[in-house]
Amino acid sequence: MTPYASEYEGVRLLSGTVDAAGRTMGVYLFGAGGLLIDTGSSRMIAQLTPVLRTWNLEQAVLTHYHEDHSGMGRWLTEHWNLPVLAAEATRRIVAEDAPLPDYRKAVWGPRPGFETRPLPGVVDAGIYRFHVIPTPGHSADHVSLYEPRQGWLFAGDLYVTDHPRVSMAEEVTADLLASIRRVLDLDFRVLFCAHRGVLEDGREALKRKADYLERLRERVYQLREAGLGEEDIAQTLFPQPEPLEIWSSGDFSRLNLVRACLKTTGGKTGP
Ligand SMILES: [Zn+2]
Repeated sequence: MTPYASEYEGVRLLSGTVDAAGRTMGVYLFGAGGLLIDTGSSRMIAQLTPVLRTWNLEQAVLTHYHEDHSGMGRWLTEHWNLPVLAAEATRRIVAEDAPLPDYRKAVWGPRPGFETRPLPGVVDAGIYRFHVIPTPGHSADHVSLYEPRQGWLFAGDLYVTDHPRVSMAEEVTADLLASIRRVLDLDFRVLFCAHRGVLEDGREALKRKADYLERLRERVYQLREAGLGEEDIAQTLFPQPEPLEIWSSGDFSRLNLVRACLKTTGGKTGP
């Protein structure tokens, strides 16, 4: 299958897809100057490398360690000698083979360990200069890349949806909200989302997400103060099972989202 490739304001977009258990999952890779932002997963090597080969890449940056973003890292470092830059926390994780749950290995493919290089505060990529903005919450190691002159924000998985109804166990809503506020202080116009592509109304989209999460968090705390346990809160707020929850065997779940809301900054469960 030929992957979908396009261009926006000189940024190259490449959408990698995988089919698993009746669902098609995708992730975007972006190219700006000689810089590749995220690598795609290991199951996408045959699909994406013929296109990536034409991009004259000099280096790659990882927004975070998840295998849909980093899974091709080993192949790119071994076969193309491409330097892959990553935040310290990301580097420690991707240095080892990922211990993935079976369904994630089946969907995205394995994520073998690979060598990365330290990520400077500013990444030079030809005419572009990307400022690295720590944006934890989706995962603790997550960073976004901001190009001030172009008004671009490459936000990895910071956005994805403005209305999440499930989450993974590691997510921390308080951190996610602080990260969204941090990037909204920047003067960006366009949001490049790893699962949605280009969002020209990226600022508004992130504001919608922050508003939704703030309201949700408030509601979760109210219900807990009223004496409900985590599972009852999840059932009250989201009575219907989510397709992603069933498909991921509960890795993404409504309960995880409630727990994410109850964690305080840095991931501790709140008072
Ligand atoms: Zn992710």
